[in-house]
Amino acid sequence: MDCLFCKIVAGTAEASIVYQDDTILALCDLYPVNPGHLLVVTRAHATGLTDLDEAGRHMFTVGQRLATAIRRTDLRCEGINLFLADGAAALQDIFHVHLHVIPRYVGDRFRLASGQSPMPTPRSDLDTVAGKVRAALTNQ
Ligand SMILES: [Zn+2]
Repeated sequence: MDCLFCKIVAGTAEASIVYQDDTILALCDLYPVNPGHLLVVTRAHATGLTDLDEAGRHMFTVGQRLATAIRRTDLRCEGINLFLADGAAALQDIFHVHLHVIPRYVGDRFRLASGQSPMPTPRSDLDTVAGKVRAALTNQ
């Protein structure tokens, strides 16, 4: 077993746990963007979003609760990002799916270039994309 999060779940790697239940564990990120940066992980190993079952929905529910909790602490927090990297191209670094809960404030070190199109996309192109996703949804 060479997965850091599986080792933490098994209790063989150190972590600062903030929450746990039957399916989810939440812990402090060892390399936080800001103090209070948490990771929500599934107890069962799953590589990415498509490998998750009900635990995936629960992961986001716990993330939402943790975001609320962070705002109630004295940690600096003017906003929150929930961030999930699904796949190497999306900046996933540990291939056991995890949701980042990141307290944010103006002027912090977090950087994520959006890369958004500078111009609005023609409606016909958007409709083509929407059709592809709708078709994939009905085939699930
Ligand atoms: Zn794992």
